[in-house]
Amino acid sequence: MRGPLPALSDWDDFVSDRYQPGKEKEEFRVYDNAPPVVREFYRLNHTHQTRDFALAKRQEYGTLDRRQMGIWEAMEYLNTLVDDSDPDTDLSQIEHNLQTAEAIRRDGHPRWFQLVGLIHDLGKVLCLYGEPQWAVVGDTFPVGCAWSDKIVYPDFFRENPDSKIPKLQTKYGVYEPGCGLENVDLSWGHDEYMYMICRDYLPEEALYMIRYHSCYPIHREGAYDYLLTDRNREMLEWVKKFNPYDLYSKGDEKVDVAKARPYYEDLIKEFFPEKVRF
Ligand code: FE
Ligand code: FE
Repeated sequence: MRGPLPALSDWDDFVSDRYQPGKEKEEFRVYDNAPPVVREFYRLNHTHQTRDFALAKRQEYGTLDRRQMGIWEAMEYLNTLVDDSDPDTDLSQIEHNLQTAEAIRRDGHPRWFQLVGLIHDLGKVLCLYGEPQWAVVGDTFPVGCAWSDKIVYPDFFRENPDSKIPKLQTKYGVYEPGCGLENVDLSWGHDEYMYMICRDYLPEEALYMIRYHSCYPIHREGAYDYLLTDRNREMLEWVKKFNPYDLYSKGDEKVDVAKARPYYEDLIKEFFPEKVRF
């Protein structure tokens, strides 16, 4: 038997531990003392996130015909996600979203940037559709070419069926050098799902932040640079700019949800229609 499922917020905590500000680059790689549930999570993730799986999920959810919700409504829906495994979760999903947005707002960043803070994790509603956590959260990585050893727990890829397909195990795999990140398939999770939902509504910088915020091997470790274009490199700067707000706003003062709501309802209205397809 495996232990209890870790709480969703544990993934973010795990990442922020890995990337504490001021830590030396080499220390970043020290994650072997992570809780066993985190190791087990990545064992499952790396075993089952094949290229076929990622492509099939993108097809399945890309139709955006599951529900129609307002953005705030989606936040409340996501908030119904309860972690039995984490009795003392101090931060609900809504609070994490608001803390991220408020930190961005405090620093005087543009409105669309604040909005990204608010909505970047809404794709986690995948959990409410019954997707296992390993198909929703955790670091993402390219599928369809050799795995970088800069991906967290690279040894767990041993059991991934793609490891037996030689074509998928070369440096470029199914891709061309410099083909562009937008043409690279990533492991499936909440980033890509939310990107599909927002694609028609937000500026390119915002879409990068949403689509790639969990892709630590690329935006943090600099892996797979040979698949990127100059445009990608330029835009990834925005992902890096967003990252500290996501990781480190949790220690901030709790946000009064009711008080903050009118401001963010206005912000949502500026970019999104009343109902959005999920
Ligand atoms: Fe996230
Ligand atoms: Fe987040």
